Amino acid sequence: MSEINLEKLVRPIIKLIKSYSSARNEFYNLDEDKIFMDANENPYKNSVNRYPDPFQVKLKKSIASLKLVNPNQILLGNGSDEILDIIIRTFCEPSQDEVILLPPTYGMYEVLSNINQLIIKKVRLNEKFELNLNLIFNKISKKTKIIFICSPNNPTGNSIPTEQIIAILNKFSGIVVLDEAYVDFSECESLIGLIKTYPNLIVCQTFSKAYGMAGIRLGMCFANSIFINYFNKIKPPYNVNSLTQDRALKLLESPEKINNVINKILDERKNLEKQLIKFKFIVKIFSSDANFLLIMVDQAEKRYNQFLSKGVVLRNRSHLTGCENTLRVTVGTPEENSKFINICKEIDV
Ligand SMILES: *Cc1c(COP(=O)(O)O)cnc(C)c1O
Repeated sequence: MSEINLEKLVRPIIKLIKSYSSARNEFYNLDEDKIFMDANENPYKNSVNRYPDPFQVKLKKSIASLKLVNPNQILLGNGSDEILDIIIRTFCEPSQDEVILLPPTYGMYEVLSNINQLIIKKVRLNEKFELNLNLIFNKISKKTKIIFICSPNNPTGNSIPTEQIIAILNKFSGIVVLDEAYVDFSECESLIGLIKTYPNLIVCQTFSKAYGMAGIRLGMCFANSIFINYFNKIKPPYNVNSLTQDRALKLLESPEKINNVINKILDERKNLEKQLIKFKFIVKIFSSDANFLLIMVDQAEKRYNQFLSKGVVLRNRSHLTGCENTLRVTVGTPEENSKFINICKEIDV
């Protein structure tokens, strides 16, 4: 859909406003042999006395080579949550524009849409937790700015078939946000490569799950460079702090470590699945492409409390449409998983 006018998708106010230009905008490379008297920082070195690079040049270079994109196709944020908010604010006019959500899915799309006063249209996933394409197409209006797709989906765990995502991209000329927070656990490939073919596609990933760094708060988004420039214009200048940039860079120096952990988690997920089938209180285990399992039980509230009283915290997802009587279980370490299984044995009466 190369005929999409990308500029036209951006809110007029975002084009008009002048962004804040910080001292470090111009001189972010602090390795240079200069005296920095431009930013009112404290001059005494403690490794964090200087403001961080607002464009995360080194980190983006490293991510770009890993993800096979250009650094100018990357936005980094204080977690994907900040990135999703920046995306919404770049394209959606409050009290006017619509977004399409596909429940049951990640709750932040709805929270952020509400905070930004958007009109929310919902189209349920089908019984396989895949897209109801025709119902989605029927919901698209002139005001529809964004469709949020989560794949693998949270909390259901399944991946959305690539053909379905492409069908949306071929038909819809607004923004498609594809949240791939769990893609590294999946057998399905990331669709980052499609941002060249579909300039209205924005792919989000995160350091919080497979990369094991939820605490540093680092989200990534990949899109055409025109969009990225607008995101940069409205993001807070120092949204990714220096400790985060340093830790992420260090992790990316040894990507094999990431893969080892992913494989361990996948082995444990299979192991958990195999053992959970045996229990009578578990009605169904949904197949997962992520680091968690959604299980349907006989009585979710009762089971949730039983686990809690024995020291295991699960996520009760029963209130979500299509997820009645379900609990979401994150794959733990082998020791944690075997404790969890032992509790299952105790309560399986
Ligand atoms: C966990 C998760 C994220 C990650 O959010 P961060 O703010 O990067 O920690 C994003 N999307 C989905 C669907 C998630 O489950």
